[in-house]
Amino acid sequence: MKNAVIYLRYSDPKQTGGITIETQEAACRAACEREGYEIVDVLKDEAVSAKESKDLNKRRLADLYNYCIQHSGKFELLMVYKLNRFARSVEQHSWLRARLKEHGILLRSATEVINETPEGKLMENVLASIAQFDNDVKSVVVKKNMWQRVEQGLFPFPPPFGYKPQVHEGRKIAPYILDKEPIEAVKYVFKVFSEGKVSKSLIASELKTWKVMTYRGKRVNWTPQLVYRILKNPYYLGFLRHEDGRLIRGLHEPCIEPEVFEKCQGIQGVGTKPIIYKKSFNEDFPLRGHVYCDSCKKPLTASWSTGKYKKYPYYYCQNPSCRRSKKTISKDVLENEYLEMLTQLKPTEKAINVFESKLLKRYKERESELKSDYLNTLKEVQELEKQEEWVIESGRKGIIPEHLVKKQIDDLEQQLVFAKANLNDNYNEELDVKSLLSFANSFFVRLDIVWLDASPKAKVRLQNFLFPNGVIYHYSGLSNTGLCPLFQQIKDVSLSKSVDGDLTENRTPIAGMKTRRPNR
Ligand SMILES: [Zn+2]
Repeated sequence: MKNAVIYLRYSDPKQTGGITIETQEAACRAACEREGYEIVDVLKDEAVSAKESKDLNKRRLADLYNYCIQHSGKFELLMVYKLNRFARSVEQHSWLRARLKEHGILLRSATEVINETPEGKLMENVLASIAQFDNDVKSVVVKKNMWQRVEQGLFPFPPPFGYKPQVHEGRKIAPYILDKEPIEAVKYVFKVFSEGKVSKSLIASELKTWKVMTYRGKRVNWTPQLVYRILKNPYYLGFLRHEDGRLIRGLHEPCIEPEVFEKCQGIQGVGTKPIIYKKSFNEDFPLRGHVYCDSCKKPLTASWSTGKYKKYPYYYCQNPSCRRSKKTISKDVLENEYLEMLTQLKPTEKAINVFESKLLKRYKERESELKSDYLNTLKEVQELEKQEEWVIESGRKGIIPEHLVKKQIDDLEQQLVFAKANLNDNYNEELDVKSLLSFANSFFVRLDIVWLDASPKAKVRLQNFLFPNGVIYHYSGLSNTGLCPLFQQIKDVSLSKSVDGDLTENRTPIAGMKTRRPNR
């Protein structure tokens, strides 16, 4: 018999529709049994963090990876409950999956179709992508809620220096209130600076001697940059700055007079210049860093050039020793070529149809499995309920001692919870495939439009997703050195003859595929 390890991750039941770690475990155990694996270990990652940081997630994946390496050869299957509980992004997911495979370990999800056939791989990738898009959407919603709070005059970020949360009966209530000692330092900054003779660094070194503590009990590290940030922050004047630049009257108590604040803004030039970090991301040029020069293989950069009457945006190779270095490409030209390439890349209608029918066929098989699972679970639930009745009845008649009745009922209740949760899961999965297909359809068929309509940041994400290695510009026409696995798989699936897929495991990506230039 082959061995399996189960990996469970705690998540806030409120966020997962009441699915506890016990439910996850029961589902994983059942799945291992179904696939004929013996469970040799159960890993539980129970760190409680609903909105976990990227770093924490990376560390968890690294821990899991290390475990797998150390126990390499002792098990052949890693069972997880759901992919989105396993890796937060497609990149992480593909990375770990590939590493595991090198050590002879397969990855399975207890609630999703994953296997080593082309369809299985495709499904897995699509699900991982959806999990990622889902996370992206959530963060957009969180952001929106944050700016809505700003509209209401509340500050959704940690309190600015000099303010602290208001605590009432152990709960934090809005808005922030003045923090006695630090706010004196803030007032001092504005007062001294408005008099116009002292630099920010002098103010900073003076304040160091004050030994100010924040409300969290930390010593304040006074720097000219902190002084600058204080002077620039309209919060002290009683305002909040919205994402779009508007100033909104806050609900908190201001601490600086408008005249003093204004005066300080007028003499910003005095003293040390603030450090301004150059942003590597530029909204005007989504392809910067993604498109490579065909001659020197360095990424193109971009900027605005000033013409006689107006400014022109363009991309260019910034390598001075490259023969292309003088050649500029207007933003419109390059981005249109990119769009054209995406249009060419879109799977044909026929390929999508083949892909869909194969996926559906696969799913139908899975569905009948699910249905029998569902019926079995339903039977199990009824059986358990009958047993429970019997135990209660026996207890009442005095056949079983009371403490045993209680224990047995507890056990049965626990089993019932699992069984009922499984019923729910089976039902949920049925819905998943529909959203999966409509996602596939709208996403793949409208690929070029999706890119065109996307915000600059979303464009960059999509580009990296489609072409992990970037694309090469031939100063007329683009080519790519590696298409994303998802598209590669659609091609494979639509070309493969058998649903069970006897296709070779390692496919080479389409290298140096030049896009056809439309006839003009
Ligand atoms: Zn070059």
